[in-house]
Amino acid sequence: MDSLPTFASVKEAAAVIKGHAHRTPVLTSRTANQISGAELYFKCENLQRMGAFKFRGAFNALSRFGPRQKETGVVAFSSGNHAQAIALSARILGMPATIVMPNDAPAAKVAATREYGGTVVSYDRYREDREAIGADLASRHGMTLIPPYDHADIIAGQGTAALELLEDVGALDALFVCLGGGGLLSGCALAARALAPSIRIFGVEPEAGNDGQLSLRSGAIVTIDSPKTIADGAQTQHLGQLTFAIIQREVEDIVTATDADLIEAMRFFATRMKLVVEPTGCLGLAGFLNVREQFAGQRVGIIVSGGNVDLARLSAFFA
Ligand SMILES: *Cc1c(COP(=O)(O)O)cnc(C)c1O
Repeated sequence: MDSLPTFASVKEAAAVIKGHAHRTPVLTSRTANQISGAELYFKCENLQRMGAFKFRGAFNALSRFGPRQKETGVVAFSSGNHAQAIALSARILGMPATIVMPNDAPAAKVAATREYGGTVVSYDRYREDREAIGADLASRHGMTLIPPYDHADIIAGQGTAALELLEDVGALDALFVCLGGGGLLSGCALAARALAPSIRIFGVEPEAGNDGQLSLRSGAIVTIDSPKTIADGAQTQHLGQLTFAIIQREVEDIVTATDADLIEAMRFFATRMKLVVEPTGCLGLAGFLNVREQFAGQRVGIIVSGGNVDLARLSAFFA
């Protein structure tokens, strides 16, 4: 296993992304506080560049490429926010990006990736193995493969979200972070533990895909089938080696939220806070609300991870 990133890595990442990533706002809501009985601080990564926190990790990882790596560029496989984050970061840093996407990926996501200057290579998700395609591109063309979560520079970059949150609002009693492969949760845990040593850190997963919860509780990485959930950013089948090691050390528990909980949270964000939040981005709030009794009167941070949901899909949730 590669060595684990540390709080120092998160601080270095913060210096690297400064001036490129937005320092997103931290919002509060009296209504949310009333409903929950706690004092909530929402870190709004739905307002990040390209619409999700993934820009932080991608930009940090690509910034560390040497001149030869820059020349051949980066390859990533993703149908979601990681693809757009890599494509945008590569464009800013002046290097080519190749994104391996399934041929049934949403047209809007393919278009967004191309608009950011990425070359899209499509594959048949039922017949072909995207990891093999990515590895082949990497070896034949000398491109560097950047995975979506299990990479030290990705984890360190994602951790800057919690670093900024705690710098802005001071120590917190608890932090809730949504969880797919664990890049965001593990990075945020590094920053939160350093700035608020007694903070309680929780991950939140879709109930239909609780592999992280099973992994943390059993002490070994558990792999599940692709879960069926509206939280498309958290449909990962297992945690990473690096992310799991940090989560095991720093995270108290992983709680879950149902799709119905996510829709409820999406409605709250839209109507009360005027925020467009994608289903996966609602996990933090929805998971916290499911266990809120333990946190009465406490200061709780919630990472709102992204806002990339098209309006037709958003409105269909409330039809
Ligand atoms: C990728 C993503 C997640 C999950 O992040 P991991 O680092 O894989 O745990 C959560 N929310 C959004 C919006 C995402 O794009």
